[in-house]
Amino acid sequence: MKPKFSSPIKPTRVPAMVEGIQVNYCKNPGCQNYGIPAQEKCGRQQMNDGYVASGGGTSIPVLKCKFCGEFPPIKSNQAISEELIRLLADLIPKPAPSCPDSQCTNHNFPVSASKGHYQSYGMTHSGSSRYLCKVCKKTFTVSSVSTLRQRKSDKNQLIFSLLMNKSPMRRICEVADINPKTL
Ligand SMILES: [Zn+2]
Ligand SMILES: [Zn+2]
Repeated sequence: MKPKFSSPIKPTRVPAMVEGIQVNYCKNPGCQNYGIPAQEKCGRQQMNDGYVASGGGTSIPVLKCKFCGEFPPIKSNQAISEELIRLLADLIPKPAPSCPDSQCTNHNFPVSASKGHYQSYGMTHSGSSRYLCKVCKKTFTVSSVSTLRQRKSDKNQLIFSLLMNKSPMRRICEVADINPKTL
C-alpha cells in the first residue's frame, strides 16, 4: 500500500512566526483574507481559516486563499526577518555619544542632552565635533554621522511599521518624508 503523502508528519502548514513576522497571508487588497496570516498548525480548527496549503513535493509550496483564489507562495519568515534586521541595522539608533570613560560620572549623560556636562572643543579634520568632558577633562569626538542618525531615529518606528504593512518603498518615503537612499 502506497502512503498518500510522502511526508505525513507536517509540523506546520506555513513557517512558524519569527520575531512577530508572519508573512503567509493573502496579498490581494480586495480580499477579506487580506493581511490575515494563515494558521501555522495543521489541525481541524485551523483548516477553517480561509486558506488551503498545497504544493510540496516537487512544486513550490503555496497557500491558496479560499476567498479570492489567490495563491501566495509560502515564504520563510526567518528569511524575511533576517532581511528586515539587515535593512533596519542602519536605522536602529546607536547609543548616544557621551564621555567615553566608563568610570566618569558623565559617561551616562549624552552630549546632545546634557550640554552643561561638556564643553565644545572645536572640530576634527573630518568635520566631527570635539567635546571636553568637564568632569574628567578628557576630550572626545562625536562623528557627524551618529548625530545624523539620531535625528532620524524618531522615524524608525514609523518606517518599521510601514515595512511590516508591506507598504511600497515610495509610499514609505512619502509618509516618513525621507528619500529612498535614507530608507
Ligand atoms: Zn484572498
Ligand atoms: Zn568624563
